Amino acid sequence: MTDSDTSAPTAGAAEKHGFQAEVSELLRLMIHSLYSHREIFLRELISNASDANDKLRFLALSDPALMAGDGELRIWIEPDANAGTLSIRDNGIGMNREEAIAHLGTIARSGTADFFRRLTGDQQKDSQLIGQFGVGFYSAFIVADEVEVYTRKAGEPATAGVRWASRADGEFSIEPVELPERGTRVVLHLKPEAKEFADAWRLRTLVRRYSDHIAFPVLMPKEGEATLDWETVNQAQALWTRPRSEVKDEEYEEFYQHIAHDFTGPLAWSHNKVEGRREYTSLLYLPARAPFDLFQRDASRGLKLYVRRVFIMDDAEQFLPMYLRFLRGVLDSNDLPLNVSRELLQQDPEVEAMRSALTRRALDLLARLAKDEPGKYASFWKEFGAVLKEGVGEDVANRDRILPLLRFASTHDEDDTPKTALADYLARMQPGQERIYYVIAETPVAARGSPYLEKLRTKGVEVLLLSDRVDEWMMGQVREFDGKRFKDVARGDLELGALADDAEKDAAEQATEHSKSLLERVKGALGERVSDVRVSTRLTETPACLVLGESDLGAQMRRILAASGQTAPEAKPALELNVGHPLVRRMEATAGEAEFADLALLIHDQARLAESGAVANPGEFVRRLNRLLGQLMQ
Ligand code: ADP
Ligand code: MG
Repeated sequence: MTDSDTSAPTAGAAEKHGFQAEVSELLRLMIHSLYSHREIFLRELISNASDANDKLRFLALSDPALMAGDGELRIWIEPDANAGTLSIRDNGIGMNREEAIAHLGTIARSGTADFFRRLTGDQQKDSQLIGQFGVGFYSAFIVADEVEVYTRKAGEPATAGVRWASRADGEFSIEPVELPERGTRVVLHLKPEAKEFADAWRLRTLVRRYSDHIAFPVLMPKEGEATLDWETVNQAQALWTRPRSEVKDEEYEEFYQHIAHDFTGPLAWSHNKVEGRREYTSLLYLPARAPFDLFQRDASRGLKLYVRRVFIMDDAEQFLPMYLRFLRGVLDSNDLPLNVSRELLQQDPEVEAMRSALTRRALDLLARLAKDEPGKYASFWKEFGAVLKEGVGEDVANRDRILPLLRFASTHDEDDTPKTALADYLARMQPGQERIYYVIAETPVAARGSPYLEKLRTKGVEVLLLSDRVDEWMMGQVREFDGKRFKDVARGDLELGALADDAEKDAAEQATEHSKSLLERVKGALGERVSDVRVSTRLTETPACLVLGESDLGAQMRRILAASGQTAPEAKPALELNVGHPLVRRMEATAGEAEFADLALLIHDQARLAESGAVANPGEFVRRLNRLLGQLMQ
């Protein structure tokens, strides 16, 4: 292979095309913010070469002619220190003209626009985000001021070659060229400050690092030879096929970065070979950081699927449940047919069996991490806890495995970092306590400050503070943990059981007896707004609170439904009054019906604020508040 392989353009002038706006933006940002990670371009280009070979091998299963002339798939890396260039070539699938324009001129990924909205202009933060986005082919421009791509699609004649070139200045050119060989060659014209990547010695170390686990031979020119003679520099054995004991941590990490396009390493992994009636190898990775599209419905997820070492597809999502969508990895099956399609995967009972086995493996991996490396587990929880919570409702069969993995913010802890496991809570329960108490609010701060906790706090009872979007839904799915029922402190009776002493119970009864007429008057003033007005047992400092029925939709679910355009049935809570509170006493002593009603409505609005973060009619609330404040100042 010599430079004449990429022969001079045939007739026909180069056409200019503009990059999609997002590409130009990505290029601009990447070139500036990824400078400190600039060698990642090599991983990306080797990855693409390996993908291209994988794709060809797969297509050749049904059309062997595609491999004609060159049946051995390989990757060549060739530096030229004199010219200051570096080229990466594969003999894989290649691209035709339309594909080159589409794939090397746009970003096809869903959520791209959203991704760009998230960029801040802060280099440090943006480089993190860009790393999560996966920079791919365009990362070539971190080190090159000009990039040329010579490519010829498998199955097409030599005259169907294409030359793509760009200087990252908003446009690229396309022209037909004659190419004797199938596949793609990317030529980087290195920037003056990136010439080190044309240095054979430096490059060799890097190439080895980035390609050792690649399943194709990666070749470099033999050192010190005048004529071009190639040698294989990598192991050229798919990493997951090697025995666990022989794979170094760095190799696992490197392989993760290759499949996940994430330049931070993984948090943990689990590599397993299953033998017997069903045979497959899986390598599951737990990423250290959430991808930008974790909560986007159409985001790609799933494993890279291989059948007997042949790459079949990316994003095979049938092998893991939705709530484990953050896992990355590889599944290599010995039993699935090579022509397996997504549709077939959906129907195959074998797939279902592998899915439940992989789910168990993943949950085991998390359990081990939680036990052995709590620091890492905390960082996993911060990134993905809200996703794992979906499993509580989605995966009833594994619920008992998922519940111990949950971590909560708690009144027991000083700060709002979720670190309390349910087992910790049980161990700290008060004597006589029968319930696991929790409160749900918009934010951890709001949860901690919630009036519903007042009484429990005086009794030293711990309350879990929930504020993730999934929390109300999740808690609606579970009844108990380890024999103890969960109890939302904002609903129904607090069920204090033995925690309430007899004196307290008597006092509550008496208060109800004494407050009969007050309760009736308030009921009259509030009318249809509430289902009942009663004396509260859960307040000590706040005049009133609203209490939902056990099966009413809570504020969080109502907000989620509203945000998705659905009208939530309006729950009608009961108002609980703290009859010892000065404001309530003052109200009781108010003779004028109009003033009484003003106070009752104001107290009701306050309670609504604490319950849902909003009042029904803010304007009216403010007018009423000011009317009363005005009277105070007279
Ligand atoms: P990704 O690999 O995540 O799809 P890239 O930016 O790395 O994103 O590449 C964009 C697309 O360009 C690829 O999906 C592929 O279609 C095409 N491409 C890049 N490099 C090659 C190559 N060496 N051979 C064939 N196609 C390629
Ligand atoms: Mg790529």
